[in-house]
Amino acid sequence: MALDVGRALKNPGQVYPFEASVELPEMEVLSDPVRFDGISIEGEFFCTGDHRVSLRAEASATAVSSCSRCLEPVQVPVRAEIDALYAKEPDPDDPDLYSFEGNSLALEDAVRDALLLELPLQFFCKPDCKGLCPVCGVNLNKGTCTCQEGNVVTGPFSALKDYVLNNEEV
Ligand SMILES: [Zn+2]
Ligand SMILES: [Zn+2]
Repeated sequence: MALDVGRALKNPGQVYPFEASVELPEMEVLSDPVRFDGISIEGEFFCTGDHRVSLRAEASATAVSSCSRCLEPVQVPVRAEIDALYAKEPDPDDPDLYSFEGNSLALEDAVRDALLLELPLQFFCKPDCKGLCPVCGVNLNKGTCTCQEGNVVTGPFSALKDYVLNNEEV
């Protein structure tokens, strides 16, 4: 959605509160598809006087992806602080500027950038998700198989594996 900042451009320094909802297309993050549902944003903006607009807001959404271990869908609530500066002219000294034209700011890029920073590196359906059997693919949270019987549990590397798994989550 686009934010009309016409009033702010005429009254530099005057702060305008706003609320908006934003939609983003599904995207790939570290090769996992991620979707943000129900993105809402609330904050304020003002014109800095040099035809730039400063926007500060908080965005909240539900990130939908799949569990890194068992691939089941996972939903994670995400909140992000947005502190964005919009300008009509690109500035080589400030690559973080967002551009806008006329009186309307497109919020999507700033919202996406802020939400992506708050995503977990990996999604898990639960902290102790058992994942999929690497041999037969059965979801070990829901069922058992005999592929690795007597192998994983009592194998020489089971202690090491527990150590690695426990430290993965820190
Ligand atoms: Zn899982
Ligand atoms: Zn199996």
